[in-house]
Amino acid sequence: MIQFTNVFKSYENGTDALRGISFGVEEGEFVFLVGPSGSGKSTIMKLITGEIRPSQGAVMVNNFDIGKIKHRHLPKLRRTLGTIFQDFRLIDKKTVYDNIALAARVIGKSNKEISRQVPEKLALVGLSGYEHMYPGELSGGEQQRVSIARALVNNPKIIIADEPTGNIDPVRSLEIMTLLEQINQEGTTVLVVTHEKSLVDRMRKRVVAIDDGIIIRDSIGEYMPPEPDPEPEPAVETPLPRSDELPAVTGQEPAADIPSEPETTDDPIEDALNSDEPIRPIEPNIDAVKEFVQAMLDSMLTDTADISTLAGTADQSGVVFPPVEETAPESLAAAEPAEITDPPRDYDAEPRERTDSEVPAESIEPGTNAEIAAEAPTRDLDSALKPEDTEPTAKEDIDDGQIGE
Ligand code: ADP
Repeated sequence: MIQFTNVFKSYENGTDALRGISFGVEEGEFVFLVGPSGSGKSTIMKLITGEIRPSQGAVMVNNFDIGKIKHRHLPKLRRTLGTIFQDFRLIDKKTVYDNIALAARVIGKSNKEISRQVPEKLALVGLSGYEHMYPGELSGGEQQRVSIARALVNNPKIIIADEPTGNIDPVRSLEIMTLLEQINQEGTTVLVVTHEKSLVDRMRKRVVAIDDGIIIRDSIGEYMPPEPDPEPEPAVETPLPRSDELPAVTGQEPAADIPSEPETTDDPIEDALNSDEPIRPIEPNIDAVKEFVQAMLDSMLTDTADISTLAGTADQSGVVFPPVEETAPESLAAAEPAEITDPPRDYDAEPRERTDSEVPAESIEPGTNAEIAAEAPTRDLDSALKPEDTEPTAKEDIDDGQIGE
C-alpha cells in the first residue's frame, strides 16, 4: 500500500529532511509514526499525499509512484486516502452533514448516495443525530469524530492521521485512538503520526520511530521500548591458592564451629523464630472457636447487638477486626453522584443561519473541505490540489506515475 525505498528529501533551502528512508505499510496494518519535532514525520506524510516529491528514491502509494505522478492524477491518488488533521479542518459555517457531504460531492457522488453515506459514517463514529449541528457547537473530540466521518465517506484504502489527538483531552484521545483501531479492524489501513507516548504504549501496535531524517526503530509495542539489560559483568575467577600458600598442617585441627545455644527472650514467638526448630502450625483451640462463633451469633440475634462491639477484638488466628467507621448520614448524601444534565439538543431543528464570513486563509489546506470550498468555484480540482513545491513540467506530461489501480 505504502512503500518508501531509500527516500531522500531535501528542501530548497538545503535542509535534508529525509536521509535514506525505507519502510512499507501493508494492507490492513495499523502503524504509528513517532519521532521528535523536526525529525521528518510531516515530510513523510506530505510525500504520501503527493504534496511534495522525493529528491531521491521511490515512494509508492496505492500503486501511484509519487516521484512520477502527473499533476492531474493527484486527485485520483487522494481519493484512495482519508486524511485527519490535528486541527480537524472543518468548515465552521457548514453543518456537520454538509462538511461530510462536501467531500463526497467533489468526487461526484449523487445526493441520494450522499444522504445514505453521511448518516452511516456518523453512526460509525458515534455521532448519529448530529447532522444539523455546527462544528463550533461540538467538543474537540466530537469535531475530530466528524473529521473521521469525513475521511471515511469515500471509503478510502488508507487513513492517514497527523497528530489526531493533539487538541483533545486524554480521555477523548483514547476514544479517538480506539475508534481508529475499530476502523482498522474493519479493513482500512491506518497510519498515525503522534507524540502521545502513553497512547502508543497502550495500543500495542507497530511503531516506526524516526529521528533526524532516518528510521531508528521499527518494532511492535511501545513508543520507546526499554533498553535491553546491559551484558552481565563476567564473573571474576578467584584463583585457587597454590599449595605453598596453604597454611602449614600442624596435626592439630582447628576447632570446628560449634553452634551455640540460641539466646532466648521473654517472647515465645520471637524465640520460635530464632530457634532452628521447624515451625509447626498452631493447633486450633476448637472450644475457643465455638465460643467465639456463639458469641457472635448471640450478639447478632439481640436487638441491641451492634457489630461495632466486635471492633478491636481478635479472632483465634490473631486477626483484629478493624474499628467500624461511623458514617454520618450527611456525608453519605454528599457522596451521592451529582445528576448530570446535558443541555437539550434539538436535532430536528432547521439549521441556524450563519453569517457568510470568509474561511480564514491560513486554515485552507490542500485536499480539505476548506480548500475545496474556497477554491472549487474559481478553479478546477486539479489545480486546487496542485503539489506545493512541484510545478507541472513537460516531463510530467509525458510520465504517468500511476502504475495501475
Ligand atoms: P516533523 O513533522 O517531524 O516535525 P518535518 O518533516 O516538518 O518534521 O521537518 C523535517 C525538517 O525539514 C525540519 O528540519 C524542518 O525544519 C524542515 N522542513 C520542513 N518543511 C520544510 C520546508 N517547506 N522548507 C524547508 N525546510 C523544511
